[in-house]
Amino acid sequence: MTRGPRVVLLGKQGAGKGTQAVRLAGHYGLAHLSTGDLFRAAVRAGTPAGLDARKYMDAGDLVPDGAVVRLVDEQFAANDGYADGFVLDGFPRTETQALALDRILADSPLDVALDLNVPTEVALARLTGRRVCEQCGAVYHVDLPPRHGWTCDICGGSVVQRDDDTEEAILRRLELYERETLPIVQRYRRQARLVIVDGTGTEDEIFQRVIAAVDGRCTPARA
Ligand code: AMP
Repeated sequence: MTRGPRVVLLGKQGAGKGTQAVRLAGHYGLAHLSTGDLFRAAVRAGTPAGLDARKYMDAGDLVPDGAVVRLVDEQFAANDGYADGFVLDGFPRTETQALALDRILADSPLDVALDLNVPTEVALARLTGRRVCEQCGAVYHVDLPPRHGWTCDICGGSVVQRDDDTEEAILRRLELYERETLPIVQRYRRQARLVIVDGTGTEDEIFQRVIAAVDGRCTPARA
C-alpha cells in the first residue's frame, strides 16, 4: 500500500499555516486536521466542548491540553484516512501535545515538521487585516477581499473578522507561541524532522517552497 506524507505545519499565528495546509492537503490528497477549525465548528454548534473552548479562544489563550488531545484522539480514531498521510495545522502547540502526538502515531512517526517562518510585523499585518468565511473558513484580507462584497467566493458565506483577531488577543497568541510552541520547534529540530520554510512572499511562492520541502523529505510513494 502507498501513502502520502505525514506533515506537521508549525509557525506563529499569521504565518499562513491554514492557507498552506489546505493547499498541501489538496496537492497530496492528505487528510487535513486543523484544531482551530474544529474548535470553531464546536463553538458554532454550541457543544459543551465548544462552549468551554470559546473563553480561551476569545482571549487568545490556548485551550487546555486535555481537551485538545481528546479532540485529536477522536479524529484519528474516527477517520482511517489519516493512515494514508495527513497535514496537522495548529497541532501540536505545546510539549504535552507533541508527546501525545507521538503516542497517537505510535510506530508511524512524522515525516516532516515544517516551520513557516515570518517576521512578527508581517504576521501582525496579516492578522489584523484577516477576514474569514464564517461557513467554510476560507481566508481573505482587507487588501485582498472577496470579489463580491464580503461574501465568500467559494461558498457564498459571510466573510467576517474572527472574534479572536483583536489586537489584544493577537499579541497574547504571539506571546504564547514563543513560550509554548517554540520548544517543540526545537524538539523537531533535535529529531532531525524540522525544515524551516520562508513564509514571506505570495501565496504561490510560499506553496512552491512548501512542496519542495515536503518532496525533499518524503519519497512520494512507499511500499
Ligand atoms: P488557530 O485557528 O489555529 O489560530 O486556533 C484558534 C484558537 O483555537 C487558538 O488561539 C486557541 O485558543 C485554540 N487552539 C487551536 N489549536 C490549539 C491547540 N493545539 N492547543 C491549544 N489551543 C488551540
